[in-house]
Amino acid sequence: MTETFPAEAPASQDLFDRALAVVPGGVNSPVRAFRAVGGTPRFMVRGEGAYLFDADGRRYLDLICSWGPLVLGHAHPAVIEAVTRAAAKGTSFGAPTPGEVELAEEIVSRTPVDQVRLVNSGTEATMSAIRLARGFTDRPKIIKFAGCYHGHSDGLLAAAGSGVATLAAARTEADLAGLPDSPGVTRSAAAETIVLPYNDLAAVEAVFAVEGDQIAAIITEAAAGNMGVVPPAPGFNAGLADLAHRHGALLILDEVMTGFRVARGGWAELSASRGEPIAADLITFGKVMGGGLPAAAFGGRHEVMGHLAPAGPVYQAGTLSGNPLASAAGLATLRECTSGTYATLDRTAAQLSGLASKALDAVGVAHRLQHAGNMFSIFFTSGEVTNYDQARAQHVAAFTAFFQAMLAHGVYLPPSAFEAWFVSTAIDDDAVEVFARALPAAAEAAAA
Ligand code: PLP
Repeated sequence: MTETFPAEAPASQDLFDRALAVVPGGVNSPVRAFRAVGGTPRFMVRGEGAYLFDADGRRYLDLICSWGPLVLGHAHPAVIEAVTRAAAKGTSFGAPTPGEVELAEEIVSRTPVDQVRLVNSGTEATMSAIRLARGFTDRPKIIKFAGCYHGHSDGLLAAAGSGVATLAAARTEADLAGLPDSPGVTRSAAAETIVLPYNDLAAVEAVFAVEGDQIAAIITEAAAGNMGVVPPAPGFNAGLADLAHRHGALLILDEVMTGFRVARGGWAELSASRGEPIAADLITFGKVMGGGLPAAAFGGRHEVMGHLAPAGPVYQAGTLSGNPLASAAGLATLRECTSGTYATLDRTAAQLSGLASKALDAVGVAHRLQHAGNMFSIFFTSGEVTNYDQARAQHVAAFTAFFQAMLAHGVYLPPSAFEAWFVSTAIDDDAVEVFARALPAAAEAAAA
């Protein structure tokens, strides 16, 4: 028997009560509120390596890693040193800096893009990439896929996966008709967004046949991670590029989650190494490239990026874009991420996911383990999961029971059945042991 934490977390609850008075829902991003799983969201006070420590002094093995950025774990010495050194020189200059040139050079050297523009969040990266695609093609519409999340800009909040799925688990097929996911998003904003089922090239082809000359771009997650992990079917991404180009549209590959996490050069590199190069016109980045600070980017070939202000007419800007602290954190993180890093992440992901699957098998819980590189998630279903409808057909209550038992045993999983689980290089044998010890009780809970 291992020690378990009580369900109550008094210090976190106290902070949550204070937060509820001054912050809507008590959190600054909805999924943190634990609404899908119930209970008190844990307020974290410190991170070190593979672990987070909450306000009640409890230690958790962290499989969220700040929703992807922390590939090296918490407070990695190289990152902390870089940020500290940068901070001592000033926090923001509102002028170009050497650090942002180095970060842009590092991104360009690892990926198929010629140029990047740095921004502050993945939302800004995808929103700006879409504006650029519209400006470049002089067309209004975009295609996105149900269950793919590209941030919270208006036109992209249609069938947008995890956060929204968690809030409104019981939505129907009608969502796919380009209806807004959120009040406040106008029908006209959502009407420019055509939402299609993921992994369905025939659906994309059919839309292009009817309104191909209206479509500026297809945007897709390089590998979907926001409805749980649903990898693209072989040929899907390359087929999207082909269809877009045949009709004069662009392909925007969203690597905010996969970029620099699944390989040195992100999913684009991984896919090319498997014999499927993806001829994307624009690629968006975020998460890992900021090393845990707010930084993101979008990039593409000269011809397209040259349309961006001040080189071209498409406007885009940011007071804190290319911020020196964020650039330093991102650069330090990327420089630590060598080929060996990805081999380690892959090994750890295989080990943890294998252990979880085995524990669920042992008590007869139907589930499906899905990977996209070292990102993975477990769907509590016996059916296949290749799109959002199938992801939503899972047994969410089984996940919830599993989540709560893991939390009680000191393992911090994403508090939603529709999220990827993230590993870091800080997960050592002891951390694997913490995970393994938590599993039998969690599997039993899921089986109940
Ligand atoms: N694109 C993808 C694929 C994401 O996973 C996310 C966030 O999870 C975003 C865009 C939005 O990024 P941010 O939360 O930094 O705005």
